[in-house]
Amino acid sequence: MSFADLGLSEDLLKAVEEAGYTEPTPIQAQAIPPILMMKDIIGIAQTGTGKTASFVLPMIDVMASGRRRALMPRSLILEPTRELAAQVAENFEKYGKNHDLKMALLIGGVQMGDQVKALNEGVDVLIATPGRLMDLFERGKILLNGCELLVIDEADRMLDMGFIPDIEFICDKLPENRQTMLFSATMPPPIEKLAKKFMSNPKRIETARAATTNKDITAFKIPVDSRKKRETLRWLLQNDHVETAIIFANRKTTVRELNKSLQRHGFASSEIHGDMDQASRIKELDRFKSGDVNILVASDVAARGLDIKGVSHVFNFDTPWHPDDYVHRIGRTGRAGAKGRAFTFVSKEDAEAIQNVEKLTKNEIPVFGKKDVRVELVETPKGEPEAKKPEKDDKPEREEREDKPKRSRKKDADAPREDKPKRSSRKRDQDDEPVPAGEWNGPKPGFLEVSAT
Ligand code: ADP
Ligand code: MG
Repeated sequence: MSFADLGLSEDLLKAVEEAGYTEPTPIQAQAIPPILMMKDIIGIAQTGTGKTASFVLPMIDVMASGRRRALMPRSLILEPTRELAAQVAENFEKYGKNHDLKMALLIGGVQMGDQVKALNEGVDVLIATPGRLMDLFERGKILLNGCELLVIDEADRMLDMGFIPDIEFICDKLPENRQTMLFSATMPPPIEKLAKKFMSNPKRIETARAATTNKDITAFKIPVDSRKKRETLRWLLQNDHVETAIIFANRKTTVRELNKSLQRHGFASSEIHGDMDQASRIKELDRFKSGDVNILVASDVAARGLDIKGVSHVFNFDTPWHPDDYVHRIGRTGRAGAKGRAFTFVSKEDAEAIQNVEKLTKNEIPVFGKKDVRVELVETPKGEPEAKKPEKDDKPEREEREDKPKRSRKKDADAPREDKPKRSSRKRDQDDEPVPAGEWNGPKPGFLEVSAT
């Protein structure tokens, strides 16, 4: 299957070729023909499978004929975040360079003046986040009744971010006889409902079962004591052939603290989270993209849908609370055919979350074991203390400090369990014993020295 078989115009095929794409991805192959025939479609495909081009390409041809009018965009693409909106805009510029199409980007955190000016001059394609669009609509700066084509992209993210009421409001303002497309990695019930309400007889295209993960991603989980997460992470960063990594944490404070800790340990890392303003987020992202730093510590909202090429590793420092986020997070690696590795740390606190992830993906994530290690392991001689003492510069890091005296531990963290000896009595020679569920128990690196083979 080639792009030429899909019914796209010559001008567009030329731009696609110059972009370096040789073959359409499955969602592109299936979505482009019906979109060119002006059909409503629901496109479900996992993250990183090229959903953007599957609507951007046919839209360029569909919009090629017709006239622009002031204040009345001819088509609308809704994106959950500013970053995603900006990425779709880049796609339009890349593929639409042989077409005379005007595009405007309507996102928060950017001066409104230029956006209003562009609208006044008339646009063919408006790419917007729901919030900013509502804002302008309510001020009468934009009319939606000339909008013949609507794309709701990353619908499941929209749901997570609470945008469904805004989208319903916007849909109500668009003309009824329009073409509507909805793209999502998953189809939770509220999205099904939205589709039913605002689409007419949509063709459903599903390239892989929702919420399955990509075969190019090798995923592991690592049962680890929450106090050992940083140490474990550092070991993997140094020993798993990490080129570029995104490390996800569930809380903004963890993102900040973890980044600081990594920097203290000499890693070239930076951070991105929801408390940062748009300008600094873009700056940090650019530093990562340009290779200035090779590790990005991120929160889910800030990293949502970001297309960062060639990420060799994703680490879930915490198992995500929403199982869908797992799919989105690890989708940052293994993109467009490249192989990637994804590690999920599972401490006691993550136990329920990982169950939900495995339920959703219908797949038990294998535990990272000795056979999966990419470097030769140096055995720690028997009798040696299992965990190295915290390094001197390893200041107030909770988990490492708590490696030390028993007393400082929270009571419940060390509660004796029938299935394993108390930590204080654990010795090297227990290495050969089965690993108690949910815990690694060997020497250096502590989380690996399990008699897996
Ligand atoms: P999704 O929206 O499904 O998460 P994107 O549209 O962001 O995925 O695309 C993911 C990556 O795949 C991007 O880097 C994009 O440039 C690349 N890509 C898209 N289509 C193709 C293709 N046909 N061939 C090669 N790479 C592609
Ligand atoms: Mg997308």
